[in-house]
This record gives sequence, structure tokens and C-alpha cells, in this order.
Amino acid sequence: MGRRTTNKLLLTGGKIGLAPAAPIGVTDALAHANRTAMAADPLDILHATFGFSDFRGVQQAVVDRVMAGRGTLAVMPTGAGKSLCYQLPALARHGTAVVVSPLIALMHDQVRSAEGFGIKAATLTSADDDRAETMRRFRAGELDLLYVAPERASGESFRSLLRFTPLALFAIDEAHCVSEWGHDFRPDYRLLRPLLDAFPDVPRLALTATADAHTRADILQQLGIPDDGLIVAGFDRPNIRYTISPRDGLAAQLKTFIADQPGAGIVYAPTRDATDKIAAQIASSGRPVRAYHAGLDAGVRARNQRDFVASEDMVMVATIAFGMGIDKPDVRFVAHAAMPKSVEAYYQETGRAGRDGEPAVAQLFWGAEDFARAQRRITELDEARQKGERARLSALSHLVETAECRRAVLLRYFGEQPAARCGNCDNCLSPPATVDATEVARKLLSAAFRTEMRFGVGHLADVLAGRETDKVIGSGHNRLSVFGIADEEELKLIRPVARALIARDALRADEYGGLSFGPAARPILKGEESVGLILPPKRERRRRSRDAEEHPHDPLFEALRAKRREIAVERGVPPYVIFHDSTLREMAGLHPTTMAGLAQVTGVGQAKRDAYGEAFLGVLRNWQG
Ligand SMILES: [Zn+2]
Repeated sequence: MGRRTTNKLLLTGGKIGLAPAAPIGVTDALAHANRTAMAADPLDILHATFGFSDFRGVQQAVVDRVMAGRGTLAVMPTGAGKSLCYQLPALARHGTAVVVSPLIALMHDQVRSAEGFGIKAATLTSADDDRAETMRRFRAGELDLLYVAPERASGESFRSLLRFTPLALFAIDEAHCVSEWGHDFRPDYRLLRPLLDAFPDVPRLALTATADAHTRADILQQLGIPDDGLIVAGFDRPNIRYTISPRDGLAAQLKTFIADQPGAGIVYAPTRDATDKIAAQIASSGRPVRAYHAGLDAGVRARNQRDFVASEDMVMVATIAFGMGIDKPDVRFVAHAAMPKSVEAYYQETGRAGRDGEPAVAQLFWGAEDFARAQRRITELDEARQKGERARLSALSHLVETAECRRAVLLRYFGEQPAARCGNCDNCLSPPATVDATEVARKLLSAAFRTEMRFGVGHLADVLAGRETDKVIGSGHNRLSVFGIADEEELKLIRPVARALIARDALRADEYGGLSFGPAARPILKGEESVGLILPPKRERRRRSRDAEEHPHDPLFEALRAKRREIAVERGVPPYVIFHDSTLREMAGLHPTTMAGLAQVTGVGQAKRDAYGEAFLGVLRNWQG
């Protein structure tokens, strides 16, 4: 206990005139009394506690503002080190940081990670039976971080609790929940303002991974943060490889994809049934797998999530109900079995891969049905919302149909000006062939029109091919001007063209597959717009797994991982809470054999050195490489 409770004093010790060794064993009350309003140097804490030599990206700008006591909204992509932006000022400033967070599971994960760094953190939620003890610790000034849900934070009794203890800052995580424009609106976030205003001297820091301009403005206003407090990090996640392919035998596609991915990953499925089905298919290949959807018992869901978080090679098949509440940095892939609901959702869901900065893959499988279903859903909305929703869908169709760099399309969507090619997406790595399919598209549209816009693509192909099927003869379609007008080569393109036309809303499919015109049909028929078609490169012989490409096999790294697994099981924590892969890889490269040498490795802070240093040094010293 001594190590953890004295962490802050050890760090501030030099500045307030205590010998670093003195506070060991000092009572918490004395520790509290000894804290002064003088802040510790954030850079010292960055080295000592987190084991990093430098801030990354906008972290320093955010921390500087909070240290100066100013209101801030940080928009940072997942994986950019968002939590450090409030954890570090919580240690450096006098008092406890109150962290408002929307999900209990997420809070518990974050407390576990914070404790891994020797930070004193606790949650105050309905799921905790140690609430009395947590309140005691808070009143005694023993906590660096106190996590609460917005429902509790906005209540009167919580506000009175806060009156008794100095506060370092308010951190409002997932701050887009405050905005009705955001995709996860939580009304209780709107009630936080009086709490923040009741403590005008305590800096407020709002954090979110995704917020468009509209949502950002809303967050600033709702939480009373000045306009100059907005700090936006770039959206790029360079370690994520984006790949997108049409669905064509999904089970086999997924099987091949997953076999190439040795690490833990998530497969997003559109429905509960699909989730169970895909999980069963993956299980039959022998890979550890769990399912997660709202139809499962809460206990089963919690257990599956726990298993996944602790695992290094498990696949989680889930509906989008899964994700916001998990904090697992070593997710190596995210695969979508169907289209996400928007580009924002795609970015957020794929963003759960590779949060540790190591290489990760985002694979999307899409089909015309996804667009057809989305179009039908839009027609059920009120008139006012339809336009916006169509624009969202059209942005998705551009992303999946483009022959350009996927990352460039994605980043431009978020208002950035990226380089034309990234070198780490499917289209950059193996540029697809494009063909001009305008003529085929016009023939297909004509066939739909002549047959009164109620037949599916199979029948239209029969008509265009001149096949005298019973259905063609029976409906008299062999007498139409479009009968038999497509040649062999054109017929091969009918299905991909139909898919492209549905994606761009030139054709709309009813629930039986019957195709009718959408607004984009006329310009194509009139010759005002062309239809280019992407031909995915033929699948070359199976590439070696990416992991093997980027990280040649290193037996010392494997030995360190084995040690990590052993400690993780022993302590009942996920492996990444001990050290990230990148830290182990650097450790294997530098091969330190002393505590001082170990301290040079990125990600090895004081608490982790004390807790695990000897164990890992044991492996390093005995290594005969
Ligand atoms: Zn690219």
C-alpha cells in the first residue's frame, strides 16, 4: 500500500522540501496536509509515472492548458493518449480529479489501467459495493482520480460531497454525449453545467474522440468552455490499415481474413442472429471466440467481455452494442461483416483497433443489400431528416466505391487535407483496376425501366442476355427492345454494376430485391454522368501475415510475453495493464539487465518498475541470445 499512497508525494517531494524517501509509511492524513497548492512538473511525472520521455501530439498543449487552470475541449482520436491528458494533471495539481464517464465497464477498465501506473483511482457507481469506503478515501484526500457517471455527478448530494475535498480538475470523458448532434446523446450530460459552475476555480477538461464542427461548438457551449479552449488532434490513425471489399461468400472471406490475423480482434455483425452464426463459424476453426449482443444475459455479456479483454488472440463477434465500454489497447483487427451506419461510426468502430500504436487492420465487407436496407430505412424517416441521412449514406458509398486512397477519403470527410496516398490501405497497396461501365449501367437501368421497375437483378440479367426463361416469356419481356442487348463481357459486369448503382442511389431495391430508380438514375441515362467500376485485384497467393512482415520472429520478445502472461494470470489483470507489446519489443531490443537500464525503456514508469521490474529482469539476465 505504501508505494501507491505515496506516489504523489514522491513526485512532489523535491519541490516541497521532503526527502523522497521520507513519506514512506506516512499516514494518509499527513500526506494530505503536506500537499501544497504548488504543482509538480508535468514532465517529471511523465517520465517517472508513465515512463515516457516526451508528450505525443497535442498532449502537451492540453496538459499545459489544464495546468494553467483553463477550460479545454480536447478532440483526439482513439489511441492518441487521451486519458493521460487528465491523469497527468490529476497527479500534478493539488486535489482529486473528478472524471465523468458514461459507462461503468469503461470506468472499471480505466481504474485498472490507472492503478497499473500507481495512480490512486476509484469509481463511485451503482455497481460498486465499496461506495462508503471510496467516499471516505475521497474525503481523506487519498484519491487522484474519482470516476462517476453523469447521473450521479449532476445530483445535489454529489455536489455537497465535493465541498469537503480540494479538486484538481473536472474531466468530462466522451464529451460528445452532451450534444444532441452527437451520435450517443446522453441527456444527463446536459445537467453537468451547474456542477462545473459551482466550482469556478476548478478547470474543466472535456474529451472526445469524434466530434464534427457542429458537435464541438455544442460541447463548448453546453459545458461553458471558451472557444479558444478547443484543441483538435488530427484524425489520422497511421497504424491502422484500411481494407474494404464487396461481400462474396462472407463465411469464407472471414475465415481467410481471421487466419491471417493472429492477435485479438472484433468482428462487427449487423444483427444478433448474424452474431451467433459468425461466432459459431469461427469457433469451428478452433480459434477462441466470444459473442456479444443485447440478447445475451448481462452476466454472460460481462464474462465474455472480460475474457476478451484478458486475451491475446480471441475474436469477439458483436453487434455495435459492444465497444464504447471497452478499453483494450491491443485489439489487432476490427472486421465489419456489413456496412456501418455512417462514416463517423466506421471511423469510431475501426478506431478500436491498434490503440497501442502497433500495426492493426480494419476490414470492411459490404454488399448492395446494406445500401438497399439503409435507403428503405431513410424513406421511413420524416422529410426533414431524410436529406442529411442521404448525404451520410452517399459519403459511405464513396468510401467503399473509391479507387483512391481510403485514408485520404476518410480524412477529407473530417475536414483534413491529407496526402493523396497513404501507402497503408488496400487501394494504395494494390491499386484496383477501373473500367468504364457506363454503357452497361445504362442498359441495366433501361431494362429496369422497361420491365416497370419491380424485378430483381437476376431477371434483368436474363432479359439483357436474351434468355428465354419461363418468367421472361410469361411476362412478355422477350418482346422488349432491351431483350438480348448485352454481350458476354457486359453480362459479367451486371452484378457489380447493380451493386454500384444501388450504392450511389441510382437504383433502389425493395425488400424483395425489386429494383426501381433513385435520384441518381436520370443523369446516367442522359449521359451526364459516367459509372466507373472498381475491379478488386485478383486475390494473390496468400500473403504472409502482417505481423510476420513487420516484426520478424524474436524469441526474447516471446519470452517476455510469456512472463507477462504469467504475471497477468497471477494478478488477474489483462496483459496490457502490465506492459504494452511495444514496451516488450523495446525491452527485447535494448536488452537491459539492471533496474536503471530498464527505466530507459518507454512505458516503464516507477510503479511498474517496482511491481514487475525484477520479474522481467530475471528473463533478460538469463537470456542466452
Ligand atoms: Zn491509402
